[in-house]
Amino acid sequence: MSETPAGSGIDIDDYEDVWVFIEEHAGEVMPVSWELLEEGKKLTDKLGQDLVALVIGEDIDDVAEEALERGADRVLIADDPVFEPYRADPYGAQFRAMVEDRKPTIVLIGGTHTGRDFAGRVAVPAHAGLTADVTEIDVDEDGLLQARRPAFGGDILATILCEDHRPQMATIRPGVFEAGERDADVEIDDDVITSVDVVVEESDTLSEVLEREVGDTADITEAERIVAVGAGVEGDLEPAVELAEALGADLAASRAAVDEGWIDGSRQVGQTGKTVRPELYVAIGISGAIQHIEGMNKSGTVIAINNDPNAPIFEHADYGIVGDFATVCPELTETLRER
Ligand code: FAD
Repeated sequence: MSETPAGSGIDIDDYEDVWVFIEEHAGEVMPVSWELLEEGKKLTDKLGQDLVALVIGEDIDDVAEEALERGADRVLIADDPVFEPYRADPYGAQFRAMVEDRKPTIVLIGGTHTGRDFAGRVAVPAHAGLTADVTEIDVDEDGLLQARRPAFGGDILATILCEDHRPQMATIRPGVFEAGERDADVEIDDDVITSVDVVVEESDTLSEVLEREVGDTADITEAERIVAVGAGVEGDLEPAVELAEALGADLAASRAAVDEGWIDGSRQVGQTGKTVRPELYVAIGISGAIQHIEGMNKSGTVIAINNDPNAPIFEHADYGIVGDFATVCPELTETLRER
């Protein structure tokens, strides 16, 4: 691919390496960053290029080191108090300058609140386009990123290509890839960590964070066991909560239950919610719509409790219990507590 497309003003051959944004807040790294780093390795293996971790924040040397221990070939760090706490303008300005200066061919960003917030501020000025909410990635022999994401309400998986521009940018849904192992024995040469100039200007810092209110902090994408409720529980969460406690599970929900306001949106599973891959997933009063299944079909053992024997959820379950949740859940909870 050496052509310069008419009017694009760029030469695609000038662009190389796969960048993964490592999202951290006050030293805590969002798990999706490590998931992307692991998946990014598959792309760089095919392309024969470097996997570069990009870290923006304050006091981030440890994060940079961990990125190398998790497989990054190089790390670029922009370390400055201006990046803590997160604000879209300084992040966007810094990221944009680094992209313009160093020209990566692919940029992967976690589809978190932060990633979704600033990715557009990088993609638009670069005329790059941005494929959002991606669930599968690959590259072809020409280095063209195949970014796949659900479309038409989840009925199809669309492959989005960015043929004429670089970088090829995507925000990736958390939880769809598995993070790799950290290898603390990796030898780190100084020359693989590059501190870049901080280019944030006063006009990028006009907003100020006055207060930070932390809501429901549960991260169901990390849960090993999940008890999920749907519209069928009609607002009566108690039987599911007790079952979750007996199982040591996190509570989650279908969109219908979230829309009713019974449970926080951060716990929604599915196409417009989270993708989860627990070892155990108990679906209570959930019909099994495709948009829900999409978020939980990587689970280990699935148990469905539903009073309709024809509910589609049973097609995706390893064990099905046909009955009223208000009777079935307490019986299961009692049995578990007796053990
Ligand atoms: P319902 O479909 O109403 O099912 C309720 C189930 O409870 C039924 O099967 C019923 O038999 C059972 N039930 C009733 N009473 C009892 C009882 N007493 N005991 C046991 N079982 C009982 N949905 C998601 O979940 N996540 C998403 O991310 C998502 N994204 C979407 C994106 C788009 C673009 C669209 C169009 C839709 C999306 N949806 C999503 C909505 C999805 O299509 C379904 O409407 C939703 O999943 C239904 O939720 P539910 O199964 O809880 O409710």
